Amino acid sequence: MERGFPVEQKVREEFAHTLAIYCSDGRFAPACDGFIRHTLGEEWYDRFVVPGGAAWLCLDVRTVWEHEMAHRHLSFLVEAHKIQRVILIAHQSCGFYERYRLSPEQTVRKQMADLQGATRIFYERFTGITVEAYYLRVVDGEPRFEPVTLQTPGEPLPPSAPQV
Ligand SMILES: [Zn+2]
Repeated sequence: MERGFPVEQKVREEFAHTLAIYCSDGRFAPACDGFIRHTLGEEWYDRFVVPGGAAWLCLDVRTVWEHEMAHRHLSFLVEAHKIQRVILIAHQSCGFYERYRLSPEQTVRKQMADLQGATRIFYERFTGITVEAYYLRVVDGEPRFEPVTLQTPGEPLPPSAPQV
């Protein structure tokens, strides 16, 4: 008998040039994978899947350690795999943000500010990259991915965005 368990999915030789950053919450992560594959058309992509997703990129008193880790590992991925497209997804009811003890509206504002802050970091540090962001809400029991309007490089940040 052969050793190991076979799976249906293939393994590819070439690196992916797309990077998806989203939350590790297992209630939402499968919907994110389905959206990226079927709606955005990316079958092969690198993943940075951690609690809070893009929140790790933005420096805050509560994310000093995460910020350092995220920058180190994402810089490696972007450079080694020549990432060209970055997909950021935040989701409703994200436990990572509960530590901030904000109202639901303030939480969404903070998540949007983090998506914008993460976008800015990618545009500032790397060239040849496009960044897009989505907010996952559950509407009538169905996941919905709403596009988030991001500022292009050079535009001033809104006052609510984190300063990094
Ligand atoms: Zn989450």
